[in-house]
Amino acid sequence: MPETKAPFMCECGASLCDERIWLSPTDYAGLDGPCLAPRHTLDEGNPLEQGRQRRKRRRRRS
Ligand SMILES: [Zn+2]
Repeated sequence: MPETKAPFMCECGASLCDERIWLSPTDYAGLDGPCLAPRHTLDEGNPLEQGRQRRKRRRRRS
């Protein structure tokens, strides 16, 4: 019997973000990091407020 999926709030931290990610409790528990909607990240700030014109940062090689 499949697990029931439930909507989890995106955890990107954006105040305007109301994205939800449908996951089963097992999927949620297995996440390595925060629960994030597609293209939402914690590092990049708030994509909803900053829009799509945001400059891409160059990746540094360490
Ligand atoms: Zn988000």
